[in-house]
Amino acid sequence: MIQSNQNAPFTVLIVGGGIGGLTLAHFVRKAGWRAQVIEKRPLAEMLSGPGGIFIQLNGLSALRQLDEGRLAEALYAQGGSVLAGGFHREDGSPLYLNDPEFVGRQDLGVCISRADLQQLLYRDLGPEVVFPGSGLAHFEQDEGGVRVQLEDGTVLSGDMLVGADGLWSRVRTILEERARPAAPEYSGYCCWRGLFSVPDRQILPENSSWAEYWGFGLRFGWFHVGGDRYSFYAFKNTEQGGADEGSSLAGLRTLFGDYAAPVPAILDALEGETIYRDDICDRPPIKGPWGKGRATLIGDAAHPVQPNIGQGACQAIEDGFELVQALRAGMTAGQTVAEALRAIEEQRSKRVTRVFKVSRQVGELAQSDTRWGVFARNQLYRLMPNWLGDLQFRWLFDYEAEWRSDKLLPKA
Ligand SMILES: Cc1cc2nc3c(=O)[nH]c(=O)nc-3n(C[C@H](O)[C@H](O)[C@H](O)COP(=O)(O)OP(=O)(O)OC[C@H]3O[C@@H](n4cnc5c(N)ncnc54)[C@H](O)[C@@H]3O)c2cc1C
Repeated sequence: MIQSNQNAPFTVLIVGGGIGGLTLAHFVRKAGWRAQVIEKRPLAEMLSGPGGIFIQLNGLSALRQLDEGRLAEALYAQGGSVLAGGFHREDGSPLYLNDPEFVGRQDLGVCISRADLQQLLYRDLGPEVVFPGSGLAHFEQDEGGVRVQLEDGTVLSGDMLVGADGLWSRVRTILEERARPAAPEYSGYCCWRGLFSVPDRQILPENSSWAEYWGFGLRFGWFHVGGDRYSFYAFKNTEQGGADEGSSLAGLRTLFGDYAAPVPAILDALEGETIYRDDICDRPPIKGPWGKGRATLIGDAAHPVQPNIGQGACQAIEDGFELVQALRAGMTAGQTVAEALRAIEEQRSKRVTRVFKVSRQVGELAQSDTRWGVFARNQLYRLMPNWLGDLQFRWLFDYEAEWRSDKLLPKA
């Protein structure tokens, strides 16, 4: 049965202080339990990140359950609401335009710089909850609980362990009894991203808060992240492990300099800004439960996906919310921690497998690099009615998180 160690509050050890780990810590505390987040990076690094991120309606629905909606409101205050926008050909002609009105909403979510998001998530947790600067080295568990050893020798114990430690998860590696993490699957394309400033929107089209431009094996996108700040990203089909020779911006100018406005002006606005380059990878989903005993995984540690539908972090947020709901329900029903964890992993695996597949499909279309592939893709998007495009993603956006009172928790 789920109960606490030695009369201390039920303690959840969380490995990783990214979006998934920090959000989970909030849900754990809302349940009245203790959260301890182990983060290998120093605090300043943990509170930063490349470019911006789109938190969609499903992720926001879960975040709204925290602090009576104030955390979600803070995201809107700091970031930029996702309003009208669309996909275009490289010459600027529209392929698919979207507007929150089509789905009867005020907006489609919020875009925010990763640094701002990390800082907002950290703000109410602080040093009592988050221990940065030393990574998880090892963990062991028995019927009584979990003990972790950090790289600096610190030992912590708790009632359960959650690996929220990303694509190269150490927790997953230990669960899979490997010496080193298995290699993820390379998507075939790399990504550049970063932030830029545009005072008074000068170079950007009116009435849109984001746009993406599709070429041959190339994509360029931008979105508003609040105030005068914007985020850009660019994808290119290329070999794995590539690096920029010389300046990244010069390379981007060669690839996208002849794209429609505002792309060349955005490239000018990137002068002097930091540009990050990464290979894009995912991992085929694990069928069924992915944890063992009192240990589980959430977010990219469990199910990393390609970024084409902007759902990786949103799923990590959903994971945290659903995990805590399942544990609360399990406590009411007299389940063990392991039983509650296996049940929620099974439940989540169906949804995240669908996200994984759709993310790959969209990536294959969007990164088309043959004449026929690009023609077929452009026709498909140009002819698709908006209502059909929106309908395809309703299963994602219609997710409604609801923090149930203890009395209403379902029997697990
Ligand atoms: C180009 C790009 C664009 C994206 N855009 C979006 C988007 O718009 N919307 C969206 O929802 N998703 C997006 N994503 C996906 C999103 O970034 C990830 O899914 C999300 O960050 C995963 O969060 P996480 O907390 O699971 O893992 P991570 O963010 O990877 O965090 C893991 C944390 O664990 C720490 N860690 C690692 N090992 C250890 C260890 N041994 N001990 C302790 N700590 C450890 C790391 O330092 C890190 O802080 C995008 C991804 C990419 C690559």
